Amino acid sequence: TQPLFAVYGASGCGRGVMPLARAQLVGQCIADTRLVFIDDQPAAPVVNGQRVLRYTEFLQQEASERHAVLAIANSKVREQLAARCKADGVRAWTVSADNVVRMDDVELGEGAALSPFVTLTSNIRIGRHFHANLYSYVEHDCVIGDFVTFAPGAKCNGNVVIEDHAYIGSGAVIKQGRPDKPLVIGRGAVVGMGAVVTRDVPAGSTVVGNPARLFSPKG
Ligand code: UDP
Repeated sequence: TQPLFAVYGASGCGRGVMPLARAQLVGQCIADTRLVFIDDQPAAPVVNGQRVLRYTEFLQQEASERHAVLAIANSKVREQLAARCKADGVRAWTVSADNVVRMDDVELGEGAALSPFVTLTSNIRIGRHFHANLYSYVEHDCVIGDFVTFAPGAKCNGNVVIEDHAYIGSGAVIKQGRPDKPLVIGRGAVVGMGAVVTRDVPAGSTVVGNPARLFSPKG
């Protein structure tokens, strides 16, 4: 039997990752039929030409090894599914567009999804199950935690620390920190789309605007 590969999540995020996964397997001479979507609430049996299996069905398929990339933007869901996959021997799979630019000394944790036109420059540490969507970048000397999500065009300049589960919205810009005092985006923080982040963002908070300020729903 052959290995089986999956994109977990057959919605918006998963449909963006699937073509990258397909191209990656072509490069490894693995047949397209060994690549499926996993979805716990499948909307259709086939999506964009690829079979959609429930997780239990995925586990029942004949396979020498199972690999899955978690293509779901919600980081808490990714964390739950990562634990489930690990318990069942499903390996975390990294899927990367072929035009991703990766410079020197980049440590990238397992299970990443790197979209087209992403750039990771030099001397960077990134944790598990990182999502870097279209045109986002990570500049030099950044340290990024686990289950971090970059929406399209998120711009993280150098010497920034981003803690676990933070979400950086589309087109947000994070100011460069200093080697002796990095700018810190706290655990689970949300940076709104287009925000210009000039100072630390507390854990669990949401910031928006230019310069980015704490968001209060009442305005
Ligand atoms: N999903 C799943 N298992 C889970 C949680 C979500 O299979 O435990 C699937 C869900 O059925 C949906 C997809 O993941 O098809 C998430 O899609 P959504 O549109 O919410 O978000 P996105 O694709 O942007 O991450």
